[in-house]
Amino acid sequence: MAAEIRLFNCLSDNFGYLIHDPVSKATASIDAPEAGPIVKALQREGWTLTDILLTHHHADHVGGVAELKAKYNCRVVAPHDQTANYANADERVKQGDTVRVGNLSARVLETPGHTLDHISYIFDSEKAAFVADTLFSIGCGRVFEGTYPMMWESLLKLRALPDTTRIYCGHEYTQSNVKFALGIDKDNAALKARADQVTKLRAANQPTVPTTIGEEKETNIFLRADQPSVASAIGFAGKPAVEVFGELRERKNKS
Ligand code: ZN
Ligand code: FE
Repeated sequence: MAAEIRLFNCLSDNFGYLIHDPVSKATASIDAPEAGPIVKALQREGWTLTDILLTHHHADHVGGVAELKAKYNCRVVAPHDQTANYANADERVKQGDTVRVGNLSARVLETPGHTLDHISYIFDSEKAAFVADTLFSIGCGRVFEGTYPMMWESLLKLRALPDTTRIYCGHEYTQSNVKFALGIDKDNAALKARADQVTKLRAANQPTVPTTIGEEKETNIFLRADQPSVASAIGFAGKPAVEVFGELRERKNKS
């Protein structure tokens, strides 16, 4: 039986996510921005939290861990990277590890750049990837701890996933990302179509995630840093993709 995934708002613009195995009844929260909305979502479904899968150490992703662990005595899985401390971690996982949630299993991809410890959880058989602050719809995370080459490599790892993979991002940032991308990728018809869709969704107070890898490959300017048209549009024709990516990220920081 397929996994059930629920998404809901946390804090000001974070997403909370639950993934539930209907066979074993195991339920994981991907990150824990704050306990309140996660407990409510669990109660709404009649699910019990068995696991928390953490992507990186930022407060808006771990703030609810202590309270949830106290309430459910759930297992807490955190990134292996020792630059980050995790007070409540039961397990630390690295690239290539498999994390089981009941009968479901996630592959760990190390996706550093936003932070050095950042990992993503890929549930291959569910065609679902939880990428937190590495990849956003039409955007990517700010590069706080890593380097541009590191972040670009991480994005390439995600871009290599099958096109049908659903992408669950850490934040609802799509509208501002679309605005930035349209300023550069002006002739991208798929991006324009996505812009219209995003405007409608946000006007109806609906989330713009999940997106898919296939859709992001066509519309996400950061994933398109190796397209000649994107390099030309910023005056970087012929330059390596990683430099184009770095320039795009710099411009987004200032936008
Ligand atoms: Zn973050
Ligand atoms: Fe975040």
